[in-house]
Amino acid sequence: MLEFTVTTQARDVLVDITARIQEMLDAAGFEGDGLCHVFVPHTTAGVTLNEGADPSVRRDIETTLARLVPRQGSYHHEGNSDAHVKATIVGNHVAVPVQGGEVKLGTWQHIYLAELDGPRTRRVWLEVTRSALPGA
Ligand code: ZN
Repeated sequence: MLEFTVTTQARDVLVDITARIQEMLDAAGFEGDGLCHVFVPHTTAGVTLNEGADPSVRRDIETTLARLVPRQGSYHHEGNSDAHVKATIVGNHVAVPVQGGEVKLGTWQHIYLAELDGPRTRRVWLEVTRSALPGA
């Protein structure tokens, strides 16, 4: 398993980690085909895929999550319940294809760590499973 950390600068922010993931695969010398699992081992952060070209999409996701799950509400858990709920909506795992050692994404897709209770230092775990397909 590979691990890297991301230090976030705000309470709610999507941080593009696409290049970091590719750097980790490059440094590990993985050149094959397979599936890269990206796992965020936190309960108030997550990971998701979305548009990387227009930064206003990222802002819209951040502001819509904040509107759907307000910071103050009739929660039972003290302090940061909104962050826990948002983390469940976002999810904490994505799996992306890897071809010839390169993370293969749709034209507009980037991989984002979703910080929901920052600023903090977050961990990201990567595991690559090699393809079982013939010729891979
Ligand atoms: Zn909590």
